[in-house]
Amino acid sequence: MNNIKLIDSHVNFGHELLAENSKNIIQESIENNIIGMLCVNSNLLEFSNDLRIISDYDLIDITIGHHPNYVNQMNILDMESLLDKNLSQNSKIVAVGETGLDFYYDTDKNKQIESLEIHLEKASQFSKPVLIHMRDSEDEIFPILKKFRQRVPQILVHCFTGTDEFAKKCIDLDCYYSISGIITFKNAVKLRETIKKLPINRVIFETDSPYLTPDPHRGKVNYPKYLELILIKYCEILSLDLEEMASISNDNYNKLFSKIVK
Ligand SMILES: [Zn+2]
Repeated sequence: MNNIKLIDSHVNFGHELLAENSKNIIQESIENNIIGMLCVNSNLLEFSNDLRIISDYDLIDITIGHHPNYVNQMNILDMESLLDKNLSQNSKIVAVGETGLDFYYDTDKNKQIESLEIHLEKASQFSKPVLIHMRDSEDEIFPILKKFRQRVPQILVHCFTGTDEFAKKCIDLDCYYSISGIITFKNAVKLRETIKKLPINRVIFETDSPYLTPDPHRGKVNYPKYLELILIKYCEILSLDLEEMASISNDNYNKLFSKIVK
């Protein structure tokens, strides 16, 4: 294998498949040339637990947010006060999210919209980029993102799986995109075409561990060490040089989250 250094922009360290073994997973990631990771908090009730898992590691950043599919677990006022409290106290938080709209599952749509708007308000107030989860909700989410675009520093569409049309609209808003293992899946023919249209200076990579394990490990637990497989596929699709793209995506990550370039 080569010596490509990469940053994994989406790891669900709080997930039980990773949490119990996090020390070893982090060590193994470092040994596999992962130079940075973003621990994504998707349940505000578990934020302190996520923070505890990663707090000893300078190479791991964290986000704060409540996933659209969990919005029934808490009311908007509690959500707002937890976001307020932690965003004002914790300098390890680099972004607000994940938040967004997911209409694939049957979660109250209005509550999801309300939650998304609170997250965008807080991102604006604390001047943080927002990490967006979008599934089966392109038409509903876009006007909301557009409305807040001028007020938040950046929007990251995580695990990009949008249509050509959605990509075009997001490009108009100058968003960032994270590319996941889905691009390695056999049936992702359309997605492989769409991602060609995304500007490479706005692209970063994510494993979304423990989910979305790239081929040829599909069906098993995903880990940050598999990130390179996603980069390799992306570069194959766009005919790009691996090392060059790795360095571009790391710079993109650092720019997006206002980090010192590694
Ligand atoms: Zn997500």
